[in-house]
Amino acid sequence: VRAMLVLGTRPEAIKLAPVARAMATGSQFEPVVVTTGQHREMLQQMLDLLRVDVRIALDVMRSRQQLSDLTARLVRELGEVLRAQRPDLVVVQGDTTTALAGALAAFYEKIPVAHVEAGLRTGVLDNPFPEELNRCLISRIARWHFAPTPAAARHLTDEGVAEEQVFTTGNTVIDNLLWVLAEGTGSSAFRTGGRRILVTLHRRENQGERMRGMGRALTRLAARGDVEIVLPLHKSPAVRDALLPELDGHDGISLVEPLGYLDFAATLAECDLVLTDSGGVQEEAPSLSKPALVLRTTTERPEAVEAGAARLIGTDPESIVTWANRLLDDPVEYRAMAGAGNPFGDGMATARILAQLAEDFAADVPVGLT
Ligand code: UDP
Repeated sequence: VRAMLVLGTRPEAIKLAPVARAMATGSQFEPVVVTTGQHREMLQQMLDLLRVDVRIALDVMRSRQQLSDLTARLVRELGEVLRAQRPDLVVVQGDTTTALAGALAAFYEKIPVAHVEAGLRTGVLDNPFPEELNRCLISRIARWHFAPTPAAARHLTDEGVAEEQVFTTGNTVIDNLLWVLAEGTGSSAFRTGGRRILVTLHRRENQGERMRGMGRALTRLAARGDVEIVLPLHKSPAVRDALLPELDGHDGISLVEPLGYLDFAATLAECDLVLTDSGGVQEEAPSLSKPALVLRTTTERPEAVEAGAARLIGTDPESIVTWANRLLDDPVEYRAMAGAGNPFGDGMATARILAQLAEDFAADVPVGLT
């Protein structure tokens, strides 16, 4: 069975890597990896996690390209690839424009779609933009919906997706994180023995003045003198424009280039506290018992917040400083968050996904579009 994995961004590579690896080692599936180039630079450093060669590399980014141009180009080019390759299924992950275009192009070619990390919702159609709409639309197209948590599965059935097509598997990010830590070859970006804060910021809704305010909050935390802040700077120019002027050369703050996943995992494993607006990092932090302060006003991953492992604190600098100080100074509060557990899975998501696909491809009933 030929399974085309379509990916374009760093988190897609991270979360589809265990699927590609498992398909390539003794399964009935032949993984055919297509990259779109949506976030070329940060994807590139993740590709060796796949342990599978990229079969087709598209190059869809143009300068000052509008989202509508990107989507149209992706659908057209992926359509051509699908007609040439004729895979038996297409696997997309998450909520990027690449994932939506992959699902739509597969629909046009009447090829069934498996959606990994299905059913996440903020309930606000333009937040995050355009990801929330992307995920809703992919759910209209997919044949298999692999939901990371029971709550995500419930969103899908509430929206009318047939229960037989929704499978709660856990999140493949945990599979990958555990695999990478077992490999044990990464090195932490922290350099001193102080309290360690790992920060990642990139969301479109946070860019501009809001992100500058977050930068100023970090300088106030660094002024405590007993913390080391490591911030791998996203490649997005908007992120760099907001954060570099506030933070470059600041004592106690190390701005580093995006870390390869082995090094990122090692850095996360060594930190005391995480400040992030990233989706994936919100899932990874609780699985390593690291309290996470989520610098957003909505989250499509409320499970960690509900479990007490993460806190949605918004984007106001005052709130960032207050909450970070509280966790650094109050061991009871810290232990409560660190010990709250990980709601995102047990590292077996990929095995469940492959078992379900194998069962359906082995069955007499045609796999079908819906
Ligand atoms: N990550 C990484 N290196 C870094 C920063 C993040 O490998 O320097 C990983 C992180 O472990 C997580 C993923 O990138 O799995 C998150 O990607 P990002 O924040 O870009 O996207 P999101 O998860 O918000 O969609």
